[in-house]
Amino acid sequence: MYDAVVAGAGPTGSYVAGRLAAAGRRVLVLEKKLRLGGAVCTGIVGQECAEHFAIPDGVILRKVSSARLFSPSGNLLHLRREEPQACILDRVAFDSEMAARAKKAGADFRFGSRVANVAVEGDRAIVSVVRGGKEETVEARVVVVAAGFSPGLVSRLGLGRYRDYTIGAQAIIESDLTDEVEVYFGGVAPGFFAWLVPTKPPSARVGLLSRRNPGLLLRKWLDELAGRGKITSPDVEIRCKSIPLRPLSRTFGERLIVVGDAAGHVKPTSGGGIYYGLLGAEIAAAVLEQALADDDLSSRGLSKYERVWRRKLGRELRTGYWARKLFERLGEKKIDRLFEIVRAGGIDEAMLRARDLSFDWHSRTIMRLLKYQMVTKTLNIIKLPFRTGLN
Ligand SMILES: Cc1cc2nc3c(=O)[nH]c(=O)nc-3n(C[C@H](O)[C@H](O)[C@H](O)COP(=O)(O)OP(=O)(O)OC[C@H]3O[C@@H](n4cnc5c(N)ncnc54)[C@H](O)[C@@H]3O)c2cc1C
Repeated sequence: MYDAVVAGAGPTGSYVAGRLAAAGRRVLVLEKKLRLGGAVCTGIVGQECAEHFAIPDGVILRKVSSARLFSPSGNLLHLRREEPQACILDRVAFDSEMAARAKKAGADFRFGSRVANVAVEGDRAIVSVVRGGKEETVEARVVVVAAGFSPGLVSRLGLGRYRDYTIGAQAIIESDLTDEVEVYFGGVAPGFFAWLVPTKPPSARVGLLSRRNPGLLLRKWLDELAGRGKITSPDVEIRCKSIPLRPLSRTFGERLIVVGDAAGHVKPTSGGGIYYGLLGAEIAAAVLEQALADDDLSSRGLSKYERVWRRKLGRELRTGYWARKLFERLGEKKIDRLFEIVRAGGIDEAMLRARDLSFDWHSRTIMRLLKYQMVTKTLNIIKLPFRTGLN
């Protein structure tokens, strides 16, 4: 019997597997795909994430110290700092790096193996796995679900459903005309944003988030970009993937823990899930190390995981989701107006100086923005549903 079976060899699954294997535990990672990587993802993480998880330069395609933000009618905010603020990861190389760390620590990996269900029987979890069209079972003391957005699996495991999600669409294109990250609010991606992210010249990632028809919207935008001569060809493959916008209301159970996108550990503002997923995975690994040592893998024992991640990420997820819903209600004119206010009032410069603009922690930026009366007036905010801590 394994000490832990991990479902999913994305960054969060490999991280937990590596930590438990390094603590001397017998760990098996089951991955439904035949190889690592290939996630639909732009791969941008903040500098804080790169440092915290010691991401090596070899998997970084580019470092980013500036970005151009556009409003629907083309107003520009140019944010720039001297030092790199974020980096763009090669997701195949990054996922391989995280898996290599886990393998080095002693974790086993099995590919082409889809976890279909988990049943707890006495002192063990029985994992049903579909491999090569056949069903087999694997036994473990505990199971970690790191399978990305998985509504079917989490509901079968009795963990409820994702209360909200959006869909990301992305394509890899060639563009010589941009060497900075560009973000387009509203407009082509109503209620959300679109991005053009240069990686290694001339390659760039173009994508957008939308609740409806993301693929069609992106196709339209690619045609528009090609028409303006900004990209070489619009005839590229578009891939889509769902992104949870709120965490599951329960991320643990008897001999069970859920991490990463599967748990909904994603910034609701941007849909970025690598850093929060890894932070959650770090908490899960610490709780599991102790729970395995104490042989207490009961639901009650593992509930500590949820208490700790809520302390670390809860406020960000709540505030971010509130801001996301607010943004979705703004029309194009209001987004334009906000850009004007921020630029004319020098708010962008003030926030850059105050170091409030963080790639990873958005609640501080949101709170700081709400200090400006012109902003709250434009947004029609009369009363905030939470304490700002700014007074
Ligand atoms: C268009 C788009 C752009 C994005 N850009 C960014 C970005 O720039 N920065 C950022 O931080 N985040 C971004 N994200 C989100 C980011 O990709 C995810 O948050 C991140 O990959 C989550 O990691 P994970 O390990 O939880 O899950 P995943 O990376 O999704 O890995 C889950 C793994 O589990 C496997 N799996 C699934 N089901 C099963 C099963 N039943 N059994 C076994 N294996 C299974 C999958 O094949 C996969 O390998 C983006 C997402 C989208 C859609």
